[in-house]
Amino acid sequence: MSAPVLALISLAGDAPDRGSLEVLRLARRLAGSLGAPLEALVVGDAGPGRAAAGSLAGSGVATALVVDHPGLTLDHPDGWAASVAQVVEARRPEAVVGIGTERGNDLLARVAARLDVPMAANCLSVEPGERYRLTRQRWAGSLLEDCWLDAPVRLLTVAPNTVAVEAGDASPAPTVETVRVTLSEADLAVHVTSREAPERGRVSLTDARVVVGGGRGVGSSEGFAELEELAGLLGGAVGGSRVVTSAGWRPHADQIGQTGLRIAPDLYIACGISGAIQHIVGCKAAKHILAINTDAESPIMGVADYAVIGDLHAVVPAISAEIRRRSASPAG
Ligand SMILES: Cc1cc2nc3c(=O)[nH]c(=O)nc-3n(C[C@H](O)[C@H](O)[C@H](O)COP(=O)(O)OP(=O)(O)OC[C@H]3O[C@@H](n4cnc5c(N)ncnc54)[C@H](O)[C@@H]3O)c2cc1C
Repeated sequence: MSAPVLALISLAGDAPDRGSLEVLRLARRLAGSLGAPLEALVVGDAGPGRAAAGSLAGSGVATALVVDHPGLTLDHPDGWAASVAQVVEARRPEAVVGIGTERGNDLLARVAARLDVPMAANCLSVEPGERYRLTRQRWAGSLLEDCWLDAPVRLLTVAPNTVAVEAGDASPAPTVETVRVTLSEADLAVHVTSREAPERGRVSLTDARVVVGGGRGVGSSEGFAELEELAGLLGGAVGGSRVVTSAGWRPHADQIGQTGLRIAPDLYIACGISGAIQHIVGCKAAKHILAINTDAESPIMGVADYAVIGDLHAVVPAISAEIRRRSASPAG
């Protein structure tokens, strides 16, 4: 029997999150071309992990592994790296596939360091062979690199929002196996001590189906009230360019781009944003982009599906007024 392909799965509630669905898709394709079984390691707390393992029916996973260690939580990066490394040493997989988020890349880089093997981040395509041929995103997606990966176990992450997620098929729920790991005090020393909770009822930028982004053209933190109003009417979230987070008009956590968040909404409304490459890498996975800008020549026009050339302080309130008018009228 060929060595398995191991997919690292993280959770949203008690089911795999969106990134993990991308991981499963790519890992399944890889396992299929190798004729290898697909296994999944649930990176999360043991209780929900077991429930999520059950929800992997339809994904082609033969065995779901759930790590059992009383002191280990998701917030222990070294603890998880040690756990994954121990699973790799015990099960000798052909390849390990995770998601190329900051946390996912951080985890596999730590695993790579422990196992003394290379790791390839942000892959778009993977062709197995004696050496693996990879295409991967570099420089925040502004460059595609073709490369070879030559290692006894191939550690890969999938570039987020690049793999289409399909509905599951008829494959059965996996067998669930509990894995015991041995962790030292040092493995658990680094951990998250506090977390900023999002405001109640606020949609997160990465989950929002509509994002209204503001740039220097918004002019001030007060100017964002108009964007907040539009986002509220559309059930969306507000983000911004680096200029606005550097100016303190928005918190750093709202920044979209190379050094901020990658978003993939159905609609991104970019208001007073010029469209610098470092911003575009964060929003190019949006299905549609509407640019509102006074400058018809600004680079954002090159990626926008729709554009309104005009002052955002006139255009954004006009859109909000029209939405309000339509929702008040009986014809909708
Ligand atoms: C290493 C590195 C990393 C970076 N990471 C990021 C990142 O993660 N995210 C990011 O966003 N940037 C990032 N940047 C910065 C990036 O290069 C740009 O400087 C930044 O995105 C520009 O922000 P902006 O579009 O808001 O401002 P500007 O480029 O100044 O554009 C303002 C736009 O507003 C328009 N405008 C002005 N007034 C109005 C009005 N009243 N109505 C409508 N339109 C108006 C103008 O026509 C213009 O197009 C990074 C840069 C570097 C070097």
